[in-house]
Amino acid sequence: MRNVAILGSTGSIGTQTLDIISQNSSELNVVALSAGSNIELLEKQIRQYKPSLVAVWDDKKAAELRQNISDLSGVQVVSQMEGLLAVATIADSDILVTAIVGMLGIRPTIAAIEAGKDIALANKETLVTAGHIIMPLARKNQVKILPVDSEHSAIFQSLQGEEHNEINQILLTASGGPFRGMTWDEMQNVTLEQALNHPNWSMGKKITIDSSTMVNKGLEVMEAHHLFNVNLDKITVVIHPQSILHSAVQFNDGAVIGQMGTPDMRIPISYALFYPERKPINSEYLDLFQVGQMTFEKPDLNAFKGLALAYKAMEQGGNIPTVLNAANEKAVAKFLNNEIRYVQIPEIIGECMENISYINNPNLEEILETEQLTYDYIEGRY
Ligand code: NAD
Ligand code: MG
Repeated sequence: MRNVAILGSTGSIGTQTLDIISQNSSELNVVALSAGSNIELLEKQIRQYKPSLVAVWDDKKAAELRQNISDLSGVQVVSQMEGLLAVATIADSDILVTAIVGMLGIRPTIAAIEAGKDIALANKETLVTAGHIIMPLARKNQVKILPVDSEHSAIFQSLQGEEHNEINQILLTASGGPFRGMTWDEMQNVTLEQALNHPNWSMGKKITIDSSTMVNKGLEVMEAHHLFNVNLDKITVVIHPQSILHSAVQFNDGAVIGQMGTPDMRIPISYALFYPERKPINSEYLDLFQVGQMTFEKPDLNAFKGLALAYKAMEQGGNIPTVLNAANEKAVAKFLNNEIRYVQIPEIIGECMENISYINNPNLEEILETEQLTYDYIEGRY
């Protein structure tokens, strides 16, 4: 039996993780769950999966949940960052699924690694901003970082048994999102509804917007760099609108090994939870005859300014990926709230990258300070 704790159990990755756990209930067991504010769904999950600890970010909601489950014994409800840290480090867990969104996941992920927990990592923002701290820490504590992001799972799967072989390049695929083929001028008036309408994947709102701007792909290049210790100039972004080839690795002999499948996050989630074993999944399997054809294109960096900015942030290094990530988190939240226009997302990111001071090799405190400075900069102006 593997004991699983989940940060962000009510979200897109969180609920799909619970689905995989339900499909394998004799092998996987839930010990802790956490959510931001959706206590109705969290309560259903508590009654179904019987964790001993749950965290709710909001204090008032946590108190409300305690009332609502007062008929149950043996479930502790905690809140705030203390709550996330408690879920991340709960004594009887073997693996933590980081399905929370944003930089909030950094401290719990670090705490879990220090407590010796394996990490099934969906929360890419933690690696983008603190990968240079998290990866060495994981090596030191001999814990596994198992990628859940579909592209990174594909790369990880392609690298099995290839430890001693040289990577020529990583081919990181991207669907191109709903605005593939549009120019920057044509994007000026896109609406929230259009941006939330991803052609292939059903995901949480923030990553859906990130996919449409291709900032997501920029974050994923940085995520791949940290996970696989590969230089940025060896990571090539390939637009593949069908989302069937989830990414691939070209080795030094020219051979390309990739992983294909339907666009279903339960495949990488299951692979991370059972690694190195594979388990049957109750979903539609890939039918290549139905796919018919797969196509590949170069990304348009003039239209997708967010991706171009991500390349720039990677080159600059230090705390600039954190500036990009924090500015993106804030700008996307404002766009989701109808406070700014779509094209202002990359504009705000670029402005923050120019105005927040550079710090080389930032420690955790400096990363969190950079996040706050970036938020304050945007709040003062937009
Ligand atoms: P989501 O918005 O659907 O869910 C986020 C979860 O985090 C929810 O359970 C929410 O309650 C929780 N949360 C939010 N704020 C919180 C707070 N203050 N305290 C505690 N919990 C809080 O997001 P998602 O799409 O599931 O994405 C989660 C992570 O996985 C992101 O980093 C995303 O980039 C990554 N990811 C998602 C997908 C996908 O298919 N959805 C694919 C690859 C990577
Ligand atoms: Mg991805």
